[in-house]
Amino acid sequence: MQMLVLGAGQLARMMALVAAPLDIHIRAYDVVSEQVLHPVTGERYEQNLAQAIAASDRITAEFEHIPADVLALCEQSGKFFPGKKAIECGGDRAKEKALLDGAGVPSAPYVLVTERTHLDQAIDELGLPLVIKTCQAGYDGKGQWRLKNIQQADDIWQEMRAFLDKDTAHSIICEKMIPFDREVSVIGARDAQGNVKVYPVTENEHTDGVLSLSVAGIVSQDIQAQGIDAYHKIADALDYVGVLAIEFFDVDGELMVNEIAPRVHNSGHWTQQGVYCCQFENHVRAVADLPLGCTDLLQPSVMINVLGQAAIPKQVLATTGARSHWYGKTVKPGRKMGHINVSADTLHELGERLNELHEHLSEQDYPGVESRARLLM
Ligand code: ATP
Ligand code: MG
Ligand code: MG
Repeated sequence: MQMLVLGAGQLARMMALVAAPLDIHIRAYDVVSEQVLHPVTGERYEQNLAQAIAASDRITAEFEHIPADVLALCEQSGKFFPGKKAIECGGDRAKEKALLDGAGVPSAPYVLVTERTHLDQAIDELGLPLVIKTCQAGYDGKGQWRLKNIQQADDIWQEMRAFLDKDTAHSIICEKMIPFDREVSVIGARDAQGNVKVYPVTENEHTDGVLSLSVAGIVSQDIQAQGIDAYHKIADALDYVGVLAIEFFDVDGELMVNEIAPRVHNSGHWTQQGVYCCQFENHVRAVADLPLGCTDLLQPSVMINVLGQAAIPKQVLATTGARSHWYGKTVKPGRKMGHINVSADTLHELGERLNELHEHLSEQDYPGVESRARLLM
């Protein structure tokens, strides 16, 4: 089977690495350069988008910010999963909120803003502080403002207006700042028959708006049950096919959705060794209409992001249960260059392994490893 992935980054690469043993061959379409590429070697194919669509049995995506004309072409082919609507809900926070409200899943109270009076209304209705996000752009915490006191309102409004003026299709959302205890995510796969398999809920630590570390195997059954319930409501509402990720705030033991991602997700990279069938394989399976693989936890696991580093320290491989995943990208400050997965039979042993790893991973470059080791040991 031939599969086309929209986007040619590390997520397409990791899909391709597990698709090959299933006899599924992946090509990636880079929407920026408009080239069709091999997602692992970077080799370029002499094919345009229309030819790549025609030559593919199935089409999917590794990200949600896809130009409308590309999305329309893929949708018309009838081969595209999870499809245009799901991708649009992930790429536009206004559509995402409408989806969540319609599915009856709680998320942060909000006001949509296209003019100044809406901002004043948001301050009145939601109170301060506010988290303000562009609806159609933004990832890794980019395209956001924090309005903490009323004196900042005029300055932030100037920046918001500059963004809105760039394109009449732009909108902005103001959300109540949620005083969460922690952030977790739920990742699962749904197939075309409506079968669902959900991975263990992951706890996520962010540093400067970017995911730094994910831990699987530590949440309560109650949190897991809430995550599964929300997953079913959202995936069913979209008649979703593929892997869908949902980010949540845990507020006093109650889950509230932050946002969804209609794709495989950074907080699910630990599944490459913590379960039998990882998120990349289950995504490919769902899109290819193959049976979904088991998502039960084999071992508690941690994923450590490698951000802006030129290489992963080779010594980490000496730790039992630790493995290196390198994406082969050009290094830039803060860029996601790779990740390290580590697993163990028990949480205590996982803590010991993190403690060992931390000797090679400085706190500045790999925040949270040492403190997580102490928490687990
Ligand atoms: P991603 O890379 O996950 O797609 P993003 O740019 O889409 O990130 P969000 O996930 O919406 O951004 O927000 C980034 C982070 O900001 C969240 O993980 C959370 O820590 C914080 N945050 C976002 N919205 C709120 C909110 N309403 N209340 C409190 N904190 C928030
Ligand atoms: Mg996002
Ligand atoms: Mg997010």
